[in-house]
Amino acid sequence: MADKRDYYEVLGVDKNADDAAIKKAYRQLAKKYHPDTNPGNAEAEAKFKEASEAYAVLSDADKRRQYDQFGHAAFQGGGGPGAGGFDFSDMGDIFGDIFGDFFGGGRRSSMNNGPRRGADIRVGIRITFEEACFGTKKEIEVTLKDDCKTCKGTGAKEGTSPVTCTKCGGKGQVVYTQQSLFGMVRNVQTCPECNGKGKMIKDKCPDCRGTGYTASRKKIEVTVPAGIDDGQCIRISGKGEPGTNGGPRGNLLVEVTVMRHPIFQRDGYNLYSTAPISFAQAALGGDIRITTIDGDVLFNIKAGTQTDTRIRLRGKGVPSLENRSARGDHYVTLVVQVPEKLTSEQIDALKAFDKAMGGTTEETKDKEEADKKEEKGKKKKKGFFS
Ligand SMILES: [Zn+2]
Ligand SMILES: [Zn+2]
Repeated sequence: MADKRDYYEVLGVDKNADDAAIKKAYRQLAKKYHPDTNPGNAEAEAKFKEASEAYAVLSDADKRRQYDQFGHAAFQGGGGPGAGGFDFSDMGDIFGDIFGDFFGGGRRSSMNNGPRRGADIRVGIRITFEEACFGTKKEIEVTLKDDCKTCKGTGAKEGTSPVTCTKCGGKGQVVYTQQSLFGMVRNVQTCPECNGKGKMIKDKCPDCRGTGYTASRKKIEVTVPAGIDDGQCIRISGKGEPGTNGGPRGNLLVEVTVMRHPIFQRDGYNLYSTAPISFAQAALGGDIRITTIDGDVLFNIKAGTQTDTRIRLRGKGVPSLENRSARGDHYVTLVVQVPEKLTSEQIDALKAFDKAMGGTTEETKDKEEADKKEEKGKKKKKGFFS
């Protein structure tokens, strides 16, 4: 087990990666290496298993904590054989969660033909750094299914009604066993004939071709709360896929990507930036102008401020998502600038300043040159007389 790769490395994420980042990384890997897309490719299968195992651990808060503390040792001896000591018994959930969206056949959490919540819809939006700090409203367009008005969602032609499904006998599910990557699995699956409704349509509604749904593009306004960070998700309830058999609609999950800012870096609710100050400002102290997300502010620095001094602008960071009245702090690193081009006037002023400070390189140099001249003079004199 010594050659087992680090789970974070497997997924290619940072140790501090949040759930969304871990999920995203796994989705990409799983998509790439899934056996369905790589039939007969043993290397892909191994990679797929490896990524799935890493995801199973890192997506579970308890397991992740154990792994962070004990590494792979946390799961040795506890799992079934053949899976590297790892217990895959709860992988079903993960596959449902992850593959529901892109391998079709949405997630079916409850295995009966009672009311079921519709699947979630995932979309992404890109916002600026400032929008993330102060919140914004964005309009997005999604394709939303609605109950067909003609058949009121039953899918049956006017004047007819659905009949009990012959494949599942109205249960909405079928049971079969399947050879999977992790051994024989007894699978309870949504009845493919009736899609879990338990009922079949003989004469289909012409408007929805028996699906019971019509789809249309809808504009939805997303309220992005102040303080949201890159990779976080906004949940808009009831804007997902419609439920079945009277179940509620799923949710719309809006994943937020925040653009980088040229000045500010963000860590949690704190902001970090650097600000240049002149040598004179650093030496004399006084008000300096600092750019914050609220605009420029004046900050009084003390005389004799050194380069790389970090100051804190309390409450000038990012507003907290949890507490509207709280904000993080803004830390500014002051960098003393040394001028690169000087006018002769400025050079004279600096020399005068240098002299006033007592020590001077200029004088030393002058003295050295004078000494050299004296030395040469002596040599010349010697040469002349010998
Ligand atoms: Zn219809
Ligand atoms: Zn059925």
